Amino acid sequence: MQQIRNALPERSIVTDSTHVASPDEGVGAPRVGVLALQGDFREHRQILHALGATTVLVRTPEDLESVAALILPGGESTTIARLIRSSGLWAPLVERLAAGMPAWGTCAGAILLAREVPGFDRDTLGVMAIRAERNAFGRQIDSFEETLVIEGIDGPPHSAVFIRAPVFEGLGSDVKVLARLSDGRVVAVCEGVLLATAFHPELTTDRRLHALFLEWVGESTGVPAAAETAE
Ligand code: GLN
Repeated sequence: MQQIRNALPERSIVTDSTHVASPDEGVGAPRVGVLALQGDFREHRQILHALGATTVLVRTPEDLESVAALILPGGESTTIARLIRSSGLWAPLVERLAAGMPAWGTCAGAILLAREVPGFDRDTLGVMAIRAERNAFGRQIDSFEETLVIEGIDGPPHSAVFIRAPVFEGLGSDVKVLARLSDGRVVAVCEGVLLATAFHPELTTDRRLHALFLEWVGESTGVPAAAETAE
C-alpha cells in the first residue's frame, strides 16, 4: 500500500486550509468539494488538482455552500458520521444531496451514502438505494488489489485497491452496476449523479474515475469542471 501511496502525483501543494484553489483555477469553474473531516481526502484532492479542477476542502456548512459537487473519502465511516454531525454538516448535506448535487463516496464515503448498513450503530446519509455490507472481505484479507472493468471507463482495466471494503447489495431499481469482482459481487454503482465505489481510485495513479466524476459535474452545472481530461 505504501508503494501505491508513494506513486501519487506530487504536483499540488497540499495544506489543510479550506478554499485552496488549484494552481490552474479557472474563473467560474465549478468548485469540487472534498469532505475533509477524516480519511484520505488529500489524495482525492491531489488527483482533482492534477486534472485541473478547482477544489474546496469541506468542513463547515459554509464550505459546502460554495461547492457544486462533493467527494466523500475513504476512512472510518463511524468517525466521519460523527464528525458530519458535530460540524453541523448533516442537515445541509442531506439537503444538497436530495437536491441533486453530484457526489461520490469511496469506501467509507460510500457506506455513508447507503440507505442501509447492517450492524451500523448510527444513521447514514441514506441517499442511495443500496445496502452496504461493511468489511465484506473478512479479517484475513484486509487489503487486496483486483483489476476491474468499470462501465464508462475506457481503456485497460482499473487496478482497484480494496481496504476493509464493503460490497453493495439490495440495489434499488434506479441503481446501475458499474463494476463487479470476478466472483460477481458488486463494488461500483451509480444512481443518478451519485457514485459509490468500494475501492480507492485516489490511492492509485489512475485518474479516469475522477475524470468521469468531473464530467458529471460539468454536465450538471453546464460549466466544465476540469481544465483537461484524463489521458
Ligand atoms: N471499513 C471501513 C468503514 O467501515 C471503511 C474502510 C475504508 O474506507 N477504506 O468505515
